Amino acid sequence: MAIIIDGKVLAKKIRENLKVECEQLKEQGLHPKLAVIMVGNNSASKVYVRNKSKACDEIGIEYEEYLLEENITQQELNSLIEKLNQIKEVNGILLQSPIPEHLDINQAFKTISYQKDVDGFTPSSVGKLTIGEDTFISCTPYGVMKMFEEYNIDLTGKDVVIIGRSNIVGKPLAQCCLSKNATVTICHSKTKNLKEHTKRADILIVAMGKPKFVTKDMVKEGAVVIDVGTNQTEEGKLVGDVDFENVEKIASYITPVPGGVGPMTIAMLMNNVIKATKEQNNENTTF
Ligand code: NAP
Repeated sequence: MAIIIDGKVLAKKIRENLKVECEQLKEQGLHPKLAVIMVGNNSASKVYVRNKSKACDEIGIEYEEYLLEENITQQELNSLIEKLNQIKEVNGILLQSPIPEHLDINQAFKTISYQKDVDGFTPSSVGKLTIGEDTFISCTPYGVMKMFEEYNIDLTGKDVVIIGRSNIVGKPLAQCCLSKNATVTICHSKTKNLKEHTKRADILIVAMGKPKFVTKDMVKEGAVVIDVGTNQTEEGKLVGDVDFENVEKIASYITPVPGGVGPMTIAMLMNNVIKATKEQNNENTTF
């Protein structure tokens, strides 16, 4: 049976450390603040945003929410971001996705000042990650890397197979794993013979958004399995992209859903807000 990688416990530990750092910053007169922009009425986004606000509260990060109408124009959205870029008291800006289809999310991301890019989605952050410079790493990949670190999972020379090539998960994760000397394969919906790839993975990371897609026969005995997927069943239950009950029997390590990657994503967002506050005020960062 696999060792369960407990994202809840690790995320709690990270949040507790951040709370101490946040208190220290406040003693110096610095008050970390996150501004979250949400466009329209997406119910899943509301849950994500609520969780982020709760985490801010717990750590002592100030939190401000901007709820924009569904029919807002690109110019209005960009103007709000530009306004927030200028406000010194706002240390981090997060645009909650998805946004309505008539808006260009990449254009909006490009408008976010690099110094406040706590989600790590601006071209500057992505570029710096690619060339191995210190930057804001997007929160889900960063959370996965923290899990490897905590459980002493060394990536050097390992075959890492990632299913999913999104800009927010798959691609930055590939960069992170490459920087830890793994041999990385990225699979996607056009990949031929997916199982041949997954079956040889020492570390299999799944970020597809397809409930229980990865079954036991697709996984090598002893592999580390990281399940990024979050899917709601018809009964309202949260499940991952991996058939956890069966894959757990042959994996060496596995993340559960819920309680795996999800809590880590929020913890690393909080980490990035503290990092942004320090860097904007020329403090050393710990992560
Ligand atoms: P996305 O943008 O929809 O990307 C999904 C990826 O999966 C795409 O690259 C797609 O390939 C690939 N894919 C879909 N069906 C496939 C198939 N049959 N075979 C191989 N590849 C396939 O999703 P995302 O934003 O990366 O998110 C992925 C999942 O992670 C979702 O469930 C999301 O809710 C979850 N998520 C969780 C967290 C967290 O904190 N736990 C954070 C972010 C996302 P193509 O590129 O060819 O279409």
